Amino acid sequence: MRSLQRPLLALFLLAACSAAFAAQPSATPQPKVFVLGVNGAEWDIIKPLLVRGEMPNLQRVIENGVSGKLRTVAAPNCPKVYSTIFTSVSPQENGITGFVIGGQTARTDMLKAEPFWSILSKKGVSVGMANVPATFPAVPVNGYLISGMLTRGKNCEDGVLCSPKLTEVAGGDPVYPKSMTQELLQNVGDINIDCSRMPSEKELQGHEAEVVEAWLKGVDDIRAQQLRLFEYLLKNHKKDFMFFVQSCEDRVGHWLYPIQPHNVNYNERIHKLRVDAFPNQYRALDKVIGRILESLPEDTTFIMVSDHGIKPLREMEAHDAHKDHAGTTPVIAKHDFEDGDDVPGLIVAMGPGIKKGYKLMSFDASVMDVAPTILHLYGMKAPATMKGRVLNEIFDDARIATAK
Ligand SMILES: [Zn+2]
Repeated sequence: MRSLQRPLLALFLLAACSAAFAAQPSATPQPKVFVLGVNGAEWDIIKPLLVRGEMPNLQRVIENGVSGKLRTVAAPNCPKVYSTIFTSVSPQENGITGFVIGGQTARTDMLKAEPFWSILSKKGVSVGMANVPATFPAVPVNGYLISGMLTRGKNCEDGVLCSPKLTEVAGGDPVYPKSMTQELLQNVGDINIDCSRMPSEKELQGHEAEVVEAWLKGVDDIRAQQLRLFEYLLKNHKKDFMFFVQSCEDRVGHWLYPIQPHNVNYNERIHKLRVDAFPNQYRALDKVIGRILESLPEDTTFIMVSDHGIKPLREMEAHDAHKDHAGTTPVIAKHDFEDGDDVPGLIVAMGPGIKKGYKLMSFDASVMDVAPTILHLYGMKAPATMKGRVLNEIFDDARIATAK
């Protein structure tokens, strides 16, 4: 089956590249849209921080825009949900059903439905993407693409939840166009593509405090590198549509969620140490949001989405699932609950034509709706194959009326 579908995918990606882009420069200026993806952003942690005034930048977006939960898919994980966000069809239909598919780590050539960034590219919208999960090996877009989670390389041969540096990547190109790699190395450095792998049970045993501290320090370093990359791209390679992703929030939450002794897998040698570790990820994220907002042109629509939330384990869940995806780290929080409604993602948006202070209630907005809504911002109708809908309720009436 896959061999039949691969040429089809190659067709839409290749049709989107090189000559097709050059031949269709857009006559009028395109709308500017910036999407920040945050893996596993969890309202339960974010809301108390907002109340205490510790996420002022996110607060500003919420007050001046729309916010709410984002319904996700069943047993959500990053590659599965991001691919649903790109294509607006279910993981079963787009082919990316998890980290590993048929014994192989998911790759871009396994995607069986056209992602919205390919549609934008073909229509002459310039596209810049960085660290979006499940975009390895990098594929052509009308701009650039730097891969994210599932990139393979040294010490990360399986590409699952680990972090090769740009120069350590193997099995495909992490950057399109390839020529941009050298420029990034010179100006941003040999950056880690994804967040670090969690320490194993064995590494932790007897050295809990030092391993936790060292690992969190590594996470801070990766976030700083990533911010450097984002700011470099925003300054030197601004595009009409930009999609950047952060992944350390989720990774920290899995094993350092601030749980109580009654929660499953509580180990006081680890979980008493840094109850601030997970909230700190959002304090840091807020600074990233602030820096991004400063760098964006006035008329940009800013959207932040998370693919799912993350919650402490519950007694009724099977205990054998309490290790991370590589099966080595004892986790205390997870997101792949069978019912995706247990761990909704989030969406906030602010910009021209977007309502102010509007809250999306219930599960009105879904990960399926992101692609049609982004296409709508460019005045494009979503292909009939897409399952989601335009989130019309987030727009002022004028914005709805101007879309074709
Ligand atoms: Zn995760």
